[in-house]
Amino acid sequence: MRIVDIRENTKSISSPIRNAYIDFSRMTASLVAVVTDVDRDGRRVVGYGFNSNGRYGQGGLIRERFRSRILEADPESLVNDAGDNLDPHRIWDAMMKNEKPGGHGERSVAVGTLDMAIWDAVAKIAGKPLFRLLAEMKGVEADPRVFVYAAGGYYYPGRDNTALRREMRGYVDRGYTVVKMKIGGASIDEDRRRIEAVLEEIGSEAQLAVDANGRFDLETAIAYAKMLRNYSLFWYEEIGDPLDYQLQAAMAEFYPGPMATGENLFSHQDARNLLRYGGMRPDRDWLQFDCALSYGLVEYLRTLDVLEQSGWSPSRCIPHGGHQMSLNIAAGLGLGGNESYPDLFQPYGGFPDGVKVDNGHITMPDLPGIGFEGKSDLISVMHDLAA
Ligand SMILES: [Mg+2]
Repeated sequence: MRIVDIRENTKSISSPIRNAYIDFSRMTASLVAVVTDVDRDGRRVVGYGFNSNGRYGQGGLIRERFRSRILEADPESLVNDAGDNLDPHRIWDAMMKNEKPGGHGERSVAVGTLDMAIWDAVAKIAGKPLFRLLAEMKGVEADPRVFVYAAGGYYYPGRDNTALRREMRGYVDRGYTVVKMKIGGASIDEDRRRIEAVLEEIGSEAQLAVDANGRFDLETAIAYAKMLRNYSLFWYEEIGDPLDYQLQAAMAEFYPGPMATGENLFSHQDARNLLRYGGMRPDRDWLQFDCALSYGLVEYLRTLDVLEQSGWSPSRCIPHGGHQMSLNIAAGLGLGGNESYPDLFQPYGGFPDGVKVDNGHITMPDLPGIGFEGKSDLISVMHDLAA
């Protein structure tokens, strides 16, 4: 059993939107295919992966370092002890050979993208959905019903609150019970008007989360906290710089409601620093580490160990990214849910065809692997890469 080829293609996922920090007009993502020599049901097993939105495609790093380390490794060293499947942990070690610790940069995105494809292949070789494989691995019961919330509410050029309200109404009508909008890309007064417009629109049908994308300094963060605490929000997200744990810790004094962060922390060491120094509260706050940006599920399992050691439940994790990989981790390992972008970053985001949001939850279909084969627009670009 061996990996015979790894292919990468950098794809555009551009979108005419912006948050408090960046616009997405030139956003890209790496799509990868890990081709094995294993046949299942008369077909060659190919694992697929891609990186989450917000960081760019990683074709350079994948082609120059990580792909060749896998393909040049002794194939025997990449399979499990039983010899009946690939071993994602051993493949991870092969990828990270000769990489110094710390300074995670964007190599964590390259490795996370490949790791997704490897887990897809492993679950396909095992002939089961990844979430069921993960639950078995952990000795827990899988729960195919996963909480999802709708992320959007960006600053579109020239948009007014009518369009924002219409967008949020659309999410509620599609079955979401939590919707999220961007803040920090306009004045505090304008953001307050946008928030009030959305709250008026969704009423008691849904809750609102807000996301500052790491934009605020301490003074602005506190001013927003004092404004936002007048509303009963689902969470106040990524308030200051992702690595400014002191700012995050200071916010607890000004904001009693739930806060969320972590999408731009790319290693279990960074996650550990957030829990050590960021003053996050395990009874109400949320952690958004995204495996597809942060060295993949092999590393995410280490992050979950860090959580456990710090007194946090995996149910406080709702990953960033809106991809099916995190849906599988949520269903298999008991995370609190997953982000979703109902109208953006297609075909990569979203759910298999026919999966509907019902009262803020989706139910995972029983598809082998991550489930990409159940999403026709996505699997068609994946097949193009593998062909
Ligand atoms: Mg965010």
